[in-house]
Amino acid sequence: MEPLDVQWIHGSPNCNDNTDPPIQIHRYLKNIFILRQNKCVDHEYSFEAPFMYLIFGDDRVMLIDTGATSSPQLFPIGTTVQNIISTWLAEQIKQFIPLLICHSHGHSDHLLGDNQFQHFDQVTIVSHNFLDMKSYFGFENWPDQIVELDLGNRVLDIIPTPGHEEAHIAIYDRISKILFTGDTLYPGLLVIRDWDSYRKSIVRLKTFADSHKISLILGAHIEMKNEPGKWFGYPQWYQPNEHILQLETRHLIELHDAITNMAIPRVERHNDFIIQPANLSPPKLD
Ligand SMILES: [Zn+2]
Repeated sequence: MEPLDVQWIHGSPNCNDNTDPPIQIHRYLKNIFILRQNKCVDHEYSFEAPFMYLIFGDDRVMLIDTGATSSPQLFPIGTTVQNIISTWLAEQIKQFIPLLICHSHGHSDHLLGDNQFQHFDQVTIVSHNFLDMKSYFGFENWPDQIVELDLGNRVLDIIPTPGHEEAHIAIYDRISKILFTGDTLYPGLLVIRDWDSYRKSIVRLKTFADSHKISLILGAHIEMKNEPGKWFGYPQWYQPNEHILQLETRHLIELHDAITNMAIPRVERHNDFIIQPANLSPPKLD
């Protein structure tokens, strides 16, 4: 697997002094781009600094999530994605590729940029609404069904992972073997709103991992420090020495074992993530 070794933009002690671009672009593989929102672009949700992913197939390109800010002036996710697509098309000597936008889940820090894509040619924006999402992907037996989506010689598996939010999905790319996990699993505070659904989702992901090689697990945020079990607190506009973005199968197994062994939901710090039932107070700041 290609190493993923990036210094991500991570905010500033004072956002007024921040000179980073509004969106960091990292071309990880020829056909997979990782985008990170600058923490400092607005005074609302940009501190979430979500990661977004752009995956090219032969027939379609998929964008997972659109960021935490609507304003194209502050956060030009639409033109950024358009520019990446244009560059990619020029390389491929192609004229056009339709864009499919979907969301890891329906929280606003993952979809506020949707409005910037409405004028695109041949764009499909899968609503974050639970019923619309389910019907677009063709789920008939949610959440106990994994469906396929083909971007053109690039099949993705869409895996239900409700628990953080009811419409949460994980996406597995069979070519790169990356598992995109949104807010279900990332190096940070794993906020669990529906414990029973979440536990079953983690079992579902673990079962999937038992029969599929996973190269990397890429989530939507970083909130852990680069020190075992320590986190930055929330909200946070400056995160020097962050944990790396990527997790591995061993982290999924660690989460699985912790969750399935927990008789009563509780806050539990692990080296690389924190289990956080939504009704309990988060751990003290480090
Ligand atoms: Zn989020």
